[in-house]
Amino acid sequence: MNPKYIFGPVPSRRLGNSLGINPIPLKTCNYSCVYCQLGKTSDLKNEIKEYFPLEEIKAELLEFFQNVRNLPDYITIVGEGEPLLYSKLGELINFIKSNFLPPVALITNGSLLYVDSVRKSVKEVDVILPTVDTVISETFKKINRPHKEIKLENVLEGLIKTREEIEGDFWAEIMLVKGLNDSEEEIKALSEYFKKLEPHRIFINIPVRPPADSWVKAPDLSAFHLVEKYIPEAEFINFSESGMIDPSAYDSLKELIVSVSRRHPISLELLKKSVNESDEKIEKEIKELEKEEKIKLIKHGTKIFIRGISERTRLLNR
Ligand code: SF4
Repeated sequence: MNPKYIFGPVPSRRLGNSLGINPIPLKTCNYSCVYCQLGKTSDLKNEIKEYFPLEEIKAELLEFFQNVRNLPDYITIVGEGEPLLYSKLGELINFIKSNFLPPVALITNGSLLYVDSVRKSVKEVDVILPTVDTVISETFKKINRPHKEIKLENVLEGLIKTREEIEGDFWAEIMLVKGLNDSEEEIKALSEYFKKLEPHRIFINIPVRPPADSWVKAPDLSAFHLVEKYIPEAEFINFSESGMIDPSAYDSLKELIVSVSRRHPISLELLKKSVNESDEKIEKEIKELEKEEKIKLIKHGTKIFIRGISERTRLLNR
C-alpha cells in the first residue's frame, strides 16, 4: 500500500509508536509558527472545510488495520497542517474509536477550540495535545504569527473550556524559543494560566527538528531553570525520539521517505536505523528525490534531516 493520508507508524516522544493521520494539505494552517518543522506556512487560512475526502481516509485506515502486524500505541491526528480546520474531524474521530483498538490522540495548535462546534468535534479523543507557547499577545504574534481572525484571548478561553469538557486527557505543550518566550515574565505568566487550565500533563519542547525560520534557536539553560521554578510539574521532551519508523505500510523506500518526511521531518540516522537497506541505496534514493524536488536536506544541530516538499511549494519555487 502507498498511503496518502496516513503515515508511519513513527516513533513519538510522547506517544510511543504512533500512526499519523493527515486530513489537511501541507502547510495549510491558521498559524505560521517560526519554529514549524514543516517549513513556512504557504497557505495561511482559517477556513474550516473537508480538505481531504473523509471516505478515502477511512478506506486507507481500514486497509492499514487489515494488514497490520503490530498495533501502534496511538492513532494520532496531526499531519501537515492544522487538524481543527478539518470539517469532518468529529466524524473521523468517531470512526476510529468505533473501528480500531489504539487510543486516539489529537495534536493541535488549539486555535479554534473557542468555537463550540469545533470543541464538540474533539470531545471523544483519548488525549488532546494543544500548544500553549505564550499568554502574552505581542509574543503570540511574534512566535505563532496567527491568521488575523485568531485572537489570543479566544484561544486561551477555548483551551479552558476544552479542558473542562473533554473526557480524555489534556496535555499542554510549550515550545520554548530563545529570545521569544523564554523570559521570566513569559514563564511566570504561563504558570499562572496553567493554574486555571489544570492540564493533566505539561511538556516543554525545544526546536529539535529544523525550524521554518533559520534564526530560531533553543533557549539557554537558564530558561529551563525558570521552568523548574515556576512550572515544576512540567516534563521536558527536549530530546530526539527513540524507536524506529515502521516501513511495512510502504511499497518502496522512496514512498516511505516522501510520505513520512512531509509530515514529520526525519533524521538520516533514524531512517537508516528503520529500513533494511544499505546506506548506499538509501543515499542514492535520497539524491534522486532531491533532484525531483520532492525532499530537501537540512542540517540542524549535529544531524541531517529530510523534509518533504509539497506540490504547491514546488510550483511556487519555479
Ligand atoms: S507548528 Fe503547527 S500550528 Fe504552527 S505553523 Fe506549523 S502546523 Fe501550524
